[in-house]
Amino acid sequence: MTPNDFRTHGKALIDWIADYYEQIEQFPVMSPVAPGEVRAGLPAAPPQQGEPFEQMMADVERLILPGITHWQSPNFFAYFPANTSFPAILGELLSAGLGVQGMLWQTSPAATELETHVLDWLVDMLGLPAAFLSSGPGGGVIQDTASSAVLAALLAARERTTNDGQYKTTDDRPQTTSRERPVVRGLSSVVGASPSLRAYTSTQANSSVVKAAMVAGVGRENVRAVAVDGQFALRPDELRRLIEADLAAGLRPFFVVATVGTTSSTAIDPVGAIGAICREYGLWLHVDAALAGAAAVCPEFHWLHDGLELADSYAFNPHKWLLTNFDCDCFWVRDRAALLRALSILPAYLVNAASESGAVIDYRDWHVQLGRRFRALKLWLVIRAYGVSGLQAHIREHVHLAQLFAGWVAADPRFELAAPVPLNTVCFRLRDGDAASADAANEALMARLNASGKLYLTHTVLDGRFTLRLAVGSRLTAEQHVAAAWGEIRGAI
Ligand code: PLP
Repeated sequence: MTPNDFRTHGKALIDWIADYYEQIEQFPVMSPVAPGEVRAGLPAAPPQQGEPFEQMMADVERLILPGITHWQSPNFFAYFPANTSFPAILGELLSAGLGVQGMLWQTSPAATELETHVLDWLVDMLGLPAAFLSSGPGGGVIQDTASSAVLAALLAARERTTNDGQYKTTDDRPQTTSRERPVVRGLSSVVGASPSLRAYTSTQANSSVVKAAMVAGVGRENVRAVAVDGQFALRPDELRRLIEADLAAGLRPFFVVATVGTTSSTAIDPVGAIGAICREYGLWLHVDAALAGAAAVCPEFHWLHDGLELADSYAFNPHKWLLTNFDCDCFWVRDRAALLRALSILPAYLVNAASESGAVIDYRDWHVQLGRRFRALKLWLVIRAYGVSGLQAHIREHVHLAQLFAGWVAADPRFELAAPVPLNTVCFRLRDGDAASADAANEALMARLNASGKLYLTHTVLDGRFTLRLAVGSRLTAEQHVAAAWGEIRGAI
């Protein structure tokens, strides 16, 4: 493909994407294809000769589009938002066009410095503690996902617990240089598992917490599931009880994950009370606000971050609810020293004068992988294109629509709300006799609705009961779509 071909096809592709968004409501929201159907349409072997781009796009329409679940549809209410926006798509294209691999400051200074700058902006925009700013011992980094963020937090927590005191903490210089990095020690601290370590999170936490423990070698059996209250929030008294029991058994508590906005029901753990316990016992507190953190761009939702000054690390996903297409997770630490000790290793071929100077950040030291994409670009374009007020309007509209829907559910005696609705997600159930018959009725209702192609809902289990969820999150969702969904739901009983 020559630059001229690229111009032609690129412009056509942009037109195609714009058309897609204009027609998106025509597609069945949940892909109706059967397992294996997409592959059955693909040739067994790759082409020997290059093919025309037009032919590829024809196959996208014929083979790929039917196998797409339309996450950006205004009638998509499943799982959680994974919203995108035109500025984000352009940012992604620009990033691909520049083809930057930003593992070191030196490998593209703008990739690192823009990331640091945008993450500092977000500290202010979301009302996060000033300790997360890059100007102090802490700082932020873009990870691919919240799963990687919790893994990084767990590795840092283990490093702090098991190796504390062996290295100096970060000094006053803005960044850690390669001279400060434990060249060999970093890797051994990642590999060496300690069977006595214990982590804690609520029964409602995302599965990524247990997965992080599995990946790190801590073991899934060493993650204690803390009981929740009637609103599905972690109970601090239960956390303390488990920590005390583990200490009495000679085990080593080290890591707690609090969730602000659980995946199931957007329950909000009491971060302040949990943080106080973590301080008392010297445990690392990571706060997972993957979905809900975005809401704090609105001052009226700053309360979501109450108590965060006691957290050691925090993550939220602009790729969920802040109009920035997947993947983009923002992760901050109060003190980067343990994180860098856990994840830094310096092979000779990466040594360079800028890193040695101590004046730059090398983000490869802040996560598991070495290579990294220029994700800050799309986030920067989104923030600039919408402005803070545009992002606030996006969040406010979704919260308003979810509250509206919750009101309709509450007013209909055939239904019940299954959990509080602090933000954009409504958990509800059809009442139908005893628990077993209600579960069956709700499951059948969901299957009928999703098969209609007119909307897409998913479920969770709360208090052992099958529960429907309606998560408002597509950029295109307006009141008419939520009202139509409610009409479909009532009509399908
Ligand atoms: N944490 C919470 C609260 C979530 O809701 C999710 C996604 O559903 C995750 C973590 C995992 O996010 P990611 O796909 O970015 O790893």
